[in-house]
Amino acid sequence: MRRTHLSLFAALSVLAGSSGAALLAAPAGAAASSIPCSVDYKVQNQWDTGFTAAVTITNNAAAKSSWSLKWSYAGNQQVTSGWNAKITQSGAAVTAANESYNSTLASGGSVSFGFNGTYTGTNALPAAFTLDGVTCNVDDGSGSSGGGTGGGGGGGGTGNRVDNPYAGAKGYVDPEWSAKAAAEPGGSRIAHQSTAVWLDRIAAIDGVNGGMGLRAHLDEALKQKGSGDLVIQLVIYDLPGRDCAALASNGELGPNDLDKYKSQYIDPIATILADPKYAGLRIATVIEPDSLPNLVTNAGGTDTTTDACVTMKSNGNYERGVSYALDKLGAIPNVYNYLDAGHHGWLGWDTNLGPSVQEFAKAATSNGASVNDVAGFIVNTANYGPVTEPNVKVTDTVNGQTVRQSKWVDWNQYVDEQSYALGLRDKLIAAGFDSGLGMLIDTSRDGWGGTARPTGPGPLTSVDAYVNGGRIDRRVHVGNWCNQSGAGLGQRPTAAPAAGVDAYVWVKPPGQSDGASTAIPNDEGKGFDRMCDPTYGGNARNGNNPSGALPNAPLAGHWFSAQFQQLMQNAYPPLP
Ligand code: BGC
Repeated sequence: MRRTHLSLFAALSVLAGSSGAALLAAPAGAAASSIPCSVDYKVQNQWDTGFTAAVTITNNAAAKSSWSLKWSYAGNQQVTSGWNAKITQSGAAVTAANESYNSTLASGGSVSFGFNGTYTGTNALPAAFTLDGVTCNVDDGSGSSGGGTGGGGGGGGTGNRVDNPYAGAKGYVDPEWSAKAAAEPGGSRIAHQSTAVWLDRIAAIDGVNGGMGLRAHLDEALKQKGSGDLVIQLVIYDLPGRDCAALASNGELGPNDLDKYKSQYIDPIATILADPKYAGLRIATVIEPDSLPNLVTNAGGTDTTTDACVTMKSNGNYERGVSYALDKLGAIPNVYNYLDAGHHGWLGWDTNLGPSVQEFAKAATSNGASVNDVAGFIVNTANYGPVTEPNVKVTDTVNGQTVRQSKWVDWNQYVDEQSYALGLRDKLIAAGFDSGLGMLIDTSRDGWGGTARPTGPGPLTSVDAYVNGGRIDRRVHVGNWCNQSGAGLGQRPTAAPAAGVDAYVWVKPPGQSDGASTAIPNDEGKGFDRMCDPTYGGNARNGNNPSGALPNAPLAGHWFSAQFQQLMQNAYPPLP
């Protein structure tokens, strides 16, 4: 399977009132297949004298083993540095040629690159593009490409799933989240990022309190998509008896409401997603965060057991609900299901991971679901585990002692999310999942930058001093999960950052609370979990440590300005 390192999300331009965002769309009425190539050139960011642009090429002609895109500027724009293409400029004429790692361009495939440039006056968009000498965005009159496969085809790719839906695609920018982010001081630095849409209750399908419903998001996604490819991420999150080991995200459905979950939640979602109008979108679903992991670690026989999880294990409604969602949504050809797999600080011990893989396999092969309904798995959803710990490897030793015996690591097999994701991936494939499985890592709040970030390894005086001095994860305990004090934005959404990883994604929208820090009456089914109370001394799931939560937090999912500000402050990589 080819996994390229080529594309960043080409973000939607959100320059208010600027002429800098433009999509060179196909002429109305032209068959996509008779446009040999389309180019989506966007100015993502623009200031007095400079700009950043993102370009996506979609090839509708025969597959290529190399490519070269040319355009000319009408003004004095000058490219200064680029990425994911070799860019040269002579006078007004610019040539962008493939890098060695993104030279192949399939028929129907896309490739993206970007660059920074300077200009004065107006930063007018290029009027025309040629790909290997052929003019793009214009009907060449050749009619249908006649691939003869009879299936989907065309630039949008309506038929077969691609290996990695994030490759070569831009990410959907949720206008509602984007507006909240942009309204915060400094928030416009990240308001153009792609975040997931959480369908966290039945009413979210039509839109809560006049907000955007699922069709409104998909219609907007079509607009943002233009002639290129786009991924929209939806979180499927309304299981019966939701959030059985915590209270903050308890939901509207009782433990026995499986029929309601199927008929009033999953079925209507599946009907909308299957609308042919949306067939050209790549739809990535995140299936039911925390549910199956809760059955593995919190449903019996340990000090972390809760009655609610015991109930959900014994009535089978988590498993049946997840299977049903995988089966129904997996039947839609442009849907990519990613099943939630907790995080390293939860399932990273072999004694948890082995049973988790069995649990995932069970849910993916029962009640009508099959492993073919699973495109991949997501780790760290709404959690805070770093992608990598630069100063601590699980194989490190101090004075002959493994760091695994430090209090922080506590015999875990992993210290960070990427090693966890890849270790898990191997085990999943060995258990029968597809060998092309792609992992996602939620990096929205796992940056751990700012002044408290260690700059190098800790002292070699003891395993604890070494680990505590060097770890960038500054939580009190790796089991802490609610509105963590000191956290920062992590890696920006990025496609194909490593082999086996489909993308770094922002599933938890930064600025949305994990849970209220005091009891707040509400009609969403949400409870008060003291893990969100900064004065709480903890429970068995966090080794009876302080919760590390920020004070004054609103209900889960509600806007938490102070947290948003801290996340920007402690972003890593830092924000400009
Ligand atoms: C909440 C949801 C919310 C989601 C995203 C969850 O913790 O329970 O209501 O949509 O976070 O912020």
